[in-house]
Amino acid sequence: MQYLPQNISIELPCKPFVLSGQKIDGLDLHLYFEPVESLVCPECGDKAVIHARAASRRPLQAVAVAPYRRTFWHVANRRGWCPHCGFTFTEAIPFQFLGRHVTLDLAKKICDEMDESSATIRATAKRLSISEDLVRRVHSDFLDMVIARVPEPQGVKSIAVDEFSILKGQKYATMIISLEPRQVLYICEGRTEENVDPFFSIYSKEFYEGIECVAMDQNHTYASQFKEKLPHVTIVSDRFHMSSNYTKDVVDKVRLRVARSYKERGDNEGYKLFKQSKYRLFTPRLADPSQAESEQELQGQLQLQKLLGMNEDINSVVLMFEQLRALYEITDEDVMREQWESWLQMAEQSSVPELVKFAQKKRRYTDQIVAHAKYPVTSAVIEGMFNVVKVQKRAAFGYRNFEYFFKRIQYVFIPGLLKERIKRDIWKNCSQYLLDPLYHAKCG
Ligand SMILES: [Zn+2]
Repeated sequence: MQYLPQNISIELPCKPFVLSGQKIDGLDLHLYFEPVESLVCPECGDKAVIHARAASRRPLQAVAVAPYRRTFWHVANRRGWCPHCGFTFTEAIPFQFLGRHVTLDLAKKICDEMDESSATIRATAKRLSISEDLVRRVHSDFLDMVIARVPEPQGVKSIAVDEFSILKGQKYATMIISLEPRQVLYICEGRTEENVDPFFSIYSKEFYEGIECVAMDQNHTYASQFKEKLPHVTIVSDRFHMSSNYTKDVVDKVRLRVARSYKERGDNEGYKLFKQSKYRLFTPRLADPSQAESEQELQGQLQLQKLLGMNEDINSVVLMFEQLRALYEITDEDVMREQWESWLQMAEQSSVPELVKFAQKKRRYTDQIVAHAKYPVTSAVIEGMFNVVKVQKRAAFGYRNFEYFFKRIQYVFIPGLLKERIKRDIWKNCSQYLLDPLYHAKCG
């Protein structure tokens, strides 16, 4: 069988330029384009004078034409001068993505690939045979365009603020979100008042006036900032942080103290029992262990009962934890204040030093804690978002500059329909330049 030369017909999205030549270099295909239409002044629309032809510029990388691995477009655009208005300009290349050395169709392909929240720069660069740096720059530009088009969220009443660690705890970042709709309002490196300051001036006056409450951990420095900038907003000390403070500062410390005391007495079995029971003590206790739904749960409950029976301090702090959790179910502010006050008194009068200290520390946050009855907001939502962030962290790995990482987090939480609309809007103007599926007409 004899093969005849193939005729390949491709619709190139290169208006208003035309293909003037081509060169093959190994697996790279180089295409050369020249302008054909007369040069028009972009200011006044008059015919302009060509005063230079751009010499060989750095080519734009385009979607690869099979069977070549990479395709480069060399575009000879012109520099012009308008005799009518005196404007000097460089001819625009409508199929170029912003100022990057990449065509619109390839830019769109990069961004589509990066749309998966677990997509990595490395994998995308490899798949499309582009440098990692170009993938990051193009995607970063795209994220900027999308984020800039997100309108101010409407009707936001409750927000939450929290910090998270990046670079294994060496650095911190702050995130402020709206709880309904769930959206990232602000994200920055650091966790100081100065870092959070810009948040108070990026939205409209009406937006800030509409906010009723903000959920946060009591330890944050942000509280004073909110009191100063948004005095009408109620600060709510949320359940999630309260529980984690209690387990860390009370339950765990008492457990380790008790474990040590067993060791000092030479009771190795007792020591091991408490040393290894960290999570056992955090699990809610059933009124009757026989209610357990599985053998495993039953064993867990029996062991919990045993631990509580072995040490009075452990028994007290676990009991007080149950009551603390119950407090957060109250929806009447007066009842909550009364119950919280009696909880504090019980804690302060207990013989457990860790519990006394905890109560003394928390007493001054009474208003924030009681506010939960009126505004049952939780930052557990942020925890869920952090899990997504962790995936993003891996994907953005290798970049010390966190701006790109933050943009990706913001992008992930833009409501789906809104995001689709913005994306359509961004790529809409280039649809006329986008490649249709390649059509190879084979002869012979
Ligand atoms: Zn002009």
